[in-house]
Amino acid sequence: MVARVVLVLGGTGEARRLAVALGEVDGLRVVSSLAGRVREPLLPVGEVRVGGFGGVRGLVDWLRERAVDLVVDATHPFAAIMTGNAAAATAELGLPLLVLRRPGWTEQVGDRWHWVSSIGEAAALLPSVGRRVLLTTGRRDLPAFANPELWFLSRSVDPPENHPDNVEILLDRGPYTVDGELELLRRQRIEVLVTKDSGGEQTAAKLTAARRLGVPVVIVRRPPVPAADTVATVAAAVEWVRRGSGVG
Ligand code: NAP
Repeated sequence: MVARVVLVLGGTGEARRLAVALGEVDGLRVVSSLAGRVREPLLPVGEVRVGGFGGVRGLVDWLRERAVDLVVDATHPFAAIMTGNAAAATAELGLPLLVLRRPGWTEQVGDRWHWVSSIGEAAALLPSVGRRVLLTTGRRDLPAFANPELWFLSRSVDPPENHPDNVEILLDRGPYTVDGELELLRRQRIEVLVTKDSGGEQTAAKLTAARRLGVPVVIVRRPPVPAADTVATVAAAVEWVRRGSGVG
């Protein structure tokens, strides 16, 4: 039997776990795709390709050339361009698409969350919430926060290309612990935390720490998901691929 080809759009822990699980299914050939943004990415097992496809046109061509049968979009909830491109390209080719998205975070008693719709809105709100800011939205969003009246600690996996004097850079990669986050918030006298609603366990400790210390959180809402089959767990994604590919 000819192997069925599955493209997993990755860059997340879920995508790496999915590559492991699908690699154990007979009759599948799994290719994971990374954007290539992180200098030393955590690589999925199995076949991996790195770099953009070249928009929807490039992705359509790539899917055709590689005779891909199914696509799983397991990108980060805020990778909206890739998600939109995957929806458009699979629709054009009539290919099945699954979106694997971990659930967002839920506000709990004691939280002081301010929901905003964009990074720009988060930046505009900050001066009324706090002056010493822990930014965890990623180095590429840093320019939006250029406000000389505030002080920022920006935590990211790779350093930004440049940053103003009122921004201190902390290079780190989760998972984080509540104790570690408590220590960081206290030591840096953080008055407000900024985060995307990324969801998941790996980076949730900062929210627990903020709750315990009464630190407000500015949290950016997720972009919408396309109209496609959507699951929240790796196990459900494996089941979808099994069914859709007819391999058992
Ligand atoms: P994005 O804004 O949605 O996509 C920008 C472009 O990057 C896409 O048009 C595509 O280029 C390329 N790209 C994105 N994901 C790709 C993938 N998995 N494989 C191949 N090309 C990809 O994406 P992003 O927000 O920059 O995220 C980039 C990667 O980092 C994703 O894999 C995502 O899962 C991961 N990530 C993102 C965040 C976040 O906060 N956004 C956080 C953690 C991890 P072409 O148009 O040329 O195909």
